[in-house]
Amino acid sequence: MGAAADSRRERASHPAARAGADSQAVERPRVLLIEDEPGIVDFVRRGLEGEGFVVEAATDGIEGERMALAGSFDAILLDLMLPRRGGLEVLESLRLAMPGAPVIILTARGEIEDRVEGLDAGAADYLVKPFSMAELVARVRAQLRVVALASASTLRAEGIEVDLLTRRVRREDRQVTLSTTEFELLVYLIRHHGQVVSREQILSSVWGYEHDPATNVVDVYVGYLRRKLASSGEPAPIFTVRAVGYRLGSSG
Ligand code: CA
Repeated sequence: MGAAADSRRERASHPAARAGADSQAVERPRVLLIEDEPGIVDFVRRGLEGEGFVVEAATDGIEGERMALAGSFDAILLDLMLPRRGGLEVLESLRLAMPGAPVIILTARGEIEDRVEGLDAGAADYLVKPFSMAELVARVRAQLRVVALASASTLRAEGIEVDLLTRRVRREDRQVTLSTTEFELLVYLIRHHGQVVSREQILSSVWGYEHDPATNVVDVYVGYLRRKLASSGEPAPIFTVRAVGYRLGSSG
């Protein structure tokens, strides 16, 4: 291991701390962009660097995979249609080598199957091209929050507060009593606040085993959770994303 690898390890040592605003001046969040379209590379690089991120780019799947595995990045933006190795293939091998890798896939408009496939293959989120800089920055920041939240004992989002130690749940100061499964489902949704999660992702994370894909158990439990979280006149902030899955809160 040379000096470059050492400094990479050093940068990787406190990913959660780097998500905080205070530390940005010292350690700027690092984003890897794997994308072959020069216009998008320029756009993303200029935009994210302007927001204080460090951006490294690869223009084919093999180089991108190599960089993703060698460096530690706070977020990886992965195009699906790539020369030499496709994005889904890159995603599969990243998932095996580094489960929980913060990958956001970039897909063309309307390719819903690709998005679902990407989420099921382990992507944390997706962005539909063409995307705005504001949208991109919001998704990358959401990804940094997910990393920071992974080490917190109290989770908060959309007026809902979950204490992971006492397992108490409150919404706008009202206590909410949940079953064990409902609680695990809510924790999963809050940890992915603002992101779309597929039914498959929810099934494997909350129920923890492969289910008959035709099962509607996720929809049934989302229904229970919505009813319990709804307060007088105010519906629960759990949205159905047609043909994909669910999202807690808005993604903006
Ligand atoms: Ca492409």
